[in-house]
Amino acid sequence: MIYLDNNSTTRVDAAVLAAMEPFWREQYGNASSLHTMGQAARHAIETAREHVAALVGAKPREIVFTSGGTEADNLAILGTLGATAKRHVVTTAVEHVAVHSLCERLATQGYRVTFLPVDSLGQLDPAAAEAAIGDDTALVSVMHANNETGVIFPIEDVARRCAARGVPLHVDAVQTAGKIPIDVAGLGAKLLSLSAHKFHGPKGAGALYVGRGLRLRNCQVGGHQERDLRPGTENVAAIVGMGEAARLARERISAGAMQCVAELRDRLEAGILASVNFARVIGDRANRTCNTTTIGFTALEAEAVLIALSEQGVCASSGAACSSGSLEPSHVLKAMGIDERIAHGAVRFSLSHETTRDEIDRAIEIITDVTKQLASLVGGA
Ligand code: PLP
Repeated sequence: MIYLDNNSTTRVDAAVLAAMEPFWREQYGNASSLHTMGQAARHAIETAREHVAALVGAKPREIVFTSGGTEADNLAILGTLGATAKRHVVTTAVEHVAVHSLCERLATQGYRVTFLPVDSLGQLDPAAAEAAIGDDTALVSVMHANNETGVIFPIEDVARRCAARGVPLHVDAVQTAGKIPIDVAGLGAKLLSLSAHKFHGPKGAGALYVGRGLRLRNCQVGGHQERDLRPGTENVAAIVGMGEAARLARERISAGAMQCVAELRDRLEAGILASVNFARVIGDRANRTCNTTTIGFTALEAEAVLIALSEQGVCASSGAACSSGSLEPSHVLKAMGIDERIAHGAVRFSLSHETTRDEIDRAIEIITDVTKQLASLVGGA
């Protein structure tokens, strides 16, 4: 199996699994309990908080654990709106559905939402973000990198403009945390979402960075866990797993391992482009996460390509995993104005540090064979 779908999810690192293991059957205390087992759980959570904070240059007390990226995004947006009378949100047309669908719902509930356009490379104009801000703007929510194309937005520039207008910036960093260095202060984010399963941690664990002084109202009501912002008994094992995954990711980033991922991604891309003349790279190649390439195979259907690839042992995705099964091009590719014939055949290949050169060379052969065969069937590529 050649797994090139790491933007959907990643394999849990063996060390992460080992770190989590004791918290189910040995150290299974509730972190709110005063006895030794409870305190062991509390200590483990606080250690994990330190690791997650270090991954994004935050202070441990600024990290709120959640059930994943979706919950972190929801808490950031709804929590901000819950603490202000302002009714306007600025976001982009290409956010992950965790933000996009929430904002669409808000627009039906009396909020005003501005969906900023992107250009044909999937890039955002920071000046447009600033121009959209008004006196009633509660929040700007802009993703760090796009899950479908890997395109990285100029967050620092957007953040400077938000700060000048006194509006907090939420950054969905689910596709960058653990892949590229992140420093919340340098980035200028007041809120930042992370998800463990995108960097070899467990599914169902995430975090929201909440900068000091930011007013946020909880979305769930209950106990006092996570400074009241996320009540409910903590999922200790998952949090511990996220902490260990964050620690390992930080090590990998500083050891330059992600540079090797970029080289393999470039090798894959170059190999496909050299042998498949109806293949086009989608998105801003100069500003992308190191592990992602989205390639449009003109006149093919992405679903057909994915099934044929899967039969040959290659795992990839078309657009967002969440929208697979639908034949419509994703809202991201639509917002980029990608030609329909290319957008329908858009396949995302996403690597990890576990991907090998041999796998990439084999994948190039399989992708070339599969797409040429399908093209000969449709006869028009
Ligand atoms: N935001 C982005 C950019 C994502 O790519 C994803 C998952 O694909 C999410 C949010 C949702 O994260 P989770 O799966 O942890 O809920």
